[in-house]
Amino acid sequence: MLDIGDLVSSIAPVRPGQTCGEVYEIFSADESCFALAVVDAGVPIGLVNRHDMTLMLADRFGRPLYERKPVTHLMDPDPLIVEMGEDIDVLSNMIVSDRPGALLKGFIVVENGAYVGIGTALGLLQANVRQAALRNEQLVRARERAEAANSAKNDFLAMMSHEIRTPMNGVIGMIELLERTELRDDQRRKLSLIRQSSGALIDIINDILDYTRLEAGCVELDLRTHDVRRLIDSVAGLLRHSAEEKGVSLLTEVDPSVPAWLEFDDGRYRQILFNLIGNAIKFTEEGMVSVSLELAGEQGSEELRTVVRDTGIGISKEAQGRIFDRFTQADSFTQRRFGGTGLGLAISRLLTEAMGGEIGVSSEPGEGSLFWFTIRCRTAHRPQSVAGGGAQPEAGTAGQLKLLVAEDNEVNQRIIAAYLSELGYIHHIVSDGKQALDIAGQQRFDMILMDIHMPEMDGVSAAKHLREAGGATAKVPVVALTANAMAGDRERYIEQGFSDYLAKPFTLAELAEVIARVAACKVSFVETAMADAEPADTEDHAEILDELIENLG
Ligand code: ADP
Repeated sequence: MLDIGDLVSSIAPVRPGQTCGEVYEIFSADESCFALAVVDAGVPIGLVNRHDMTLMLADRFGRPLYERKPVTHLMDPDPLIVEMGEDIDVLSNMIVSDRPGALLKGFIVVENGAYVGIGTALGLLQANVRQAALRNEQLVRARERAEAANSAKNDFLAMMSHEIRTPMNGVIGMIELLERTELRDDQRRKLSLIRQSSGALIDIINDILDYTRLEAGCVELDLRTHDVRRLIDSVAGLLRHSAEEKGVSLLTEVDPSVPAWLEFDDGRYRQILFNLIGNAIKFTEEGMVSVSLELAGEQGSEELRTVVRDTGIGISKEAQGRIFDRFTQADSFTQRRFGGTGLGLAISRLLTEAMGGEIGVSSEPGEGSLFWFTIRCRTAHRPQSVAGGGAQPEAGTAGQLKLLVAEDNEVNQRIIAAYLSELGYIHHIVSDGKQALDIAGQQRFDMILMDIHMPEMDGVSAAKHLREAGGATAKVPVVALTANAMAGDRERYIEQGFSDYLAKPFTLAELAEVIARVAACKVSFVETAMADAEPADTEDHAEILDELIENLG
């Protein structure tokens, strides 16, 4: 930051004995000289201002009256004197509030009391402008540094997420495959514990990534029309079992004021609901958990208010003030009886804010808790597809699907191979994008499942080359099968020419679902590709896939 030293002009001072006539000559000879200090033995004793002095001596009577008098006669004996090193902002504020006269007359700058030079309003103004420019530059640099740090943090998170998901795909996949084999009861129980632990680990990773994205303001709301009663029933249906296992009943109530159809982001709303109801069940040993919904606000800017009550352990007033902060729990870490990361409520708070609402709690220790949140929504009409009895999926592909898989991780290769065998697909596995291109050029495949990070040629380049290859190969649907699961990754891969996307770790049912979806939606691709090869079987493959998915739960 600038200080007085940056605005001072070191103009030679005048002595107390010099006459007004001599000082007048100095001003006349130098038009830029605004003021002169009167200095005695290095110490300033007054200030003569160009304006005052020239007015006095230019006057008809002034000149003969003052010309021979010492300059002390016309000087200001009490000018503003400031020390070098004073901050520009402090000086500007002081002059404006206490000594505005110094703006017109100028001021004297000293160092340890000894004369250094003269300061003027113009100098101060220029220094202020330079200071503002400097500050601006510093802000721009600070923002650039923060952006670079943020982007490094995001890259790190994306990399960590990828690195954790890849082996987790192996863990979850192997559990799933083991569960399908003959096992003793105790082995099955142990396996179920491993499955729960891996699920919990994935939940933590997802929570951390979610929180980071939300905190950075990267929330895109997916506003669609939904039947909120159905949504509440489905969420309660999924959680009722864990409540009833503890002997806790889970009740839902939707006020008649809530219309049948509302426009809001159901995924984000569900996320908050799952967290609040999940917490209510977790922290309640007996009694009940109830969820109620009502509509508030005017038409056009309605607010859906959701209340989750429980008869659980309650929360102290002190803890209520901090549980919506990240990584915070009511119990201290050492006293903890319940698991969790302390991120759920922080995520719920950011989500409600993103949806234009608020979240809060009222609770008494030992008496239970009441969590409430609001989201902005709009009354909507029944969507077309539902009105028509539901959109029918396109007819499925005919015949047995033959899939090509490009995946470099050996464990994941084994898992996908086992999954595809389980689903009854013919498949061929290669280890990189280059091999995938080569074999896709020689043989006909109905679909390609493509990992992204691979040696030799990555999945994105391989997909691009396939699309550019022309002929039937260019039309084969390619599904990105990747551990890159940050916000926007799905959209990015679809934009880059992939037909669909599945994040690792995935389950057998999820793999079956994506294959079924692509096979059903991209039927034209496959039909064209197959027309070059063999006649189509009449069997509706989508139906078989649907059946399979249903069997797999
Ligand atoms: P987590 O549940 O993963 O610890 P949350 O952010 O969802 O993280 O909750 C933070 C803390 O708030 C919990 O650890 C718990 O101490 C307290 N809490 C949340 N909901 C309830 C509830 N219904 N009853 C009692 N305490 C609760």
